[in-house]
Amino acid sequence: MKIMKFGGTSVGKPERMHQVKDLITRDNDPKIVVLSALSGTTNTLVSIGEACAQGEKGRAKEVIDQLEKHYHAFVAELLKPGPALDKAKHIVSEHFEFLNIILKISFNEALNKDILAQGELLSTKLFSCYLEQEGVLHKLLPALEFMSIDSYDEPQVAAIKIRLSMLLEENKHIPLFVTQGYICRNARGEIDNLKRGGSDYTASLVAAAIQASVCEIWTDIDGMHNNDPRIVDKTVPIDVLSFDEAAELAYFGAKILHPASIWPAQHYNVPVKLLNTMQPDARGTIIQETTTASGPRAVAAKDGIIAIKIKSSRMLLAYGFLRKIFEVFEKYRTPIDMVTTSEVAVSLTIDSKEHLSDIIKELEPFGTVEVDENQTIISVVGNELAEESGTLTRLFDALTGVPVRMVSFGGSPHNVSLVVPAEHKKKTLQLLNKGLFGL
Ligand code: ADP
Ligand code: ASP
Ligand code: MG
Repeated sequence: MKIMKFGGTSVGKPERMHQVKDLITRDNDPKIVVLSALSGTTNTLVSIGEACAQGEKGRAKEVIDQLEKHYHAFVAELLKPGPALDKAKHIVSEHFEFLNIILKISFNEALNKDILAQGELLSTKLFSCYLEQEGVLHKLLPALEFMSIDSYDEPQVAAIKIRLSMLLEENKHIPLFVTQGYICRNARGEIDNLKRGGSDYTASLVAAAIQASVCEIWTDIDGMHNNDPRIVDKTVPIDVLSFDEAAELAYFGAKILHPASIWPAQHYNVPVKLLNTMQPDARGTIIQETTTASGPRAVAAKDGIIAIKIKSSRMLLAYGFLRKIFEVFEKYRTPIDMVTTSEVAVSLTIDSKEHLSDIIKELEPFGTVEVDENQTIISVVGNELAEESGTLTRLFDALTGVPVRMVSFGGSPHNVSLVVPAEHKKKTLQLLNKGLFGL
């Protein structure tokens, strides 16, 4: 069985959904199709939640009405007049009635998650109506019946596997399943999600759970590029990446993949392919266990980084000092991305401000604490980076004139990471594109 995941742009227009149907019916291999919300929908749902949280129900209502119009126009173009269109119109009305009911009750975080789930619920139900109209035998698998996270927001792989296998077993005669990306249930049984971009994570978890032959991520670009195509003009797709390289790129900001989406596929050794819905015959990128050639493969950037420096000439050399510092971050469940140490100071980075003031307060007894917000981590990812002669020299030569705040190398053989102030991100990515890839 294979997994085919289609992102927002791949289902964002009626003609794209038509194309997705063609792609999934090109062969008769059994498959599970994972869909995101139509492009733009999740952002709009986020804004509805924000308006509700700020008590601006009038503004929320305007956005809901506008989105409803968009969906009615969408189904009118997606489907021909007939029973499938009637059903789709009814589905749209039902979901928007739900959003309107939310406006009338007192708002909380659980309701916000219900709002955010509407995008994937709508896209999959509407796509299913289209498949029905076209006579394609399939079944909608509700992700909320099998996808779950624990109280640490970690996916419960074993439980997902059991529930999904049962659902598939009950529908053995069906060759094609459609399910929602992104949404899941949390430890309290409420509707929750796998964070923004989480449909990739769903696809990889489902692929791992059923030991799929391949996990195909269909998107709007022909694979993983060597640099961020939103920022750098000349970028090129990469044919093959190892799981380790892809995981580092995803974690350090390559938006094409959700940060955590590689590990389930890697753990269960399911190859991942990144493919372009708009150019289905382009090679794309294949991500698999094999190690690739040495040297740099790609550069990625992760924004919203906070650098924290703790200086203490007295304490730093004492054993136990780092443990005490890390315990503060553990207490606030805030992951550390990068760490560097010197004789007198330790610098580290985090990507969430949520508990920043508490963390600073608890670090202050250890020494002077300096905080720099608005930083960016730039990661150069490759294989055995230090072994290819000249890579590190070219890297640092390329950075002449960039105020690098931190450097980390050696944590993994696949990664050199730098912290630069966010305003230097674009220039740094361009310089590295030239210096490392000659582009
Ligand atoms: P989807 O909606 O299909 O999940 P995303 O917008 O999440 O698509 O991811 C695809 C986008 O990721 C591309 O359009 C591209 O702009 C961006 N991107 C960022 N870094 C890279 C990279 N290194 N290679 C390819 N795409 C990248
Ligand atoms: N719809 C969700 C988002 O926009 C999940 C996804 O597209 O992967 O973040
Ligand atoms: Mg995405």
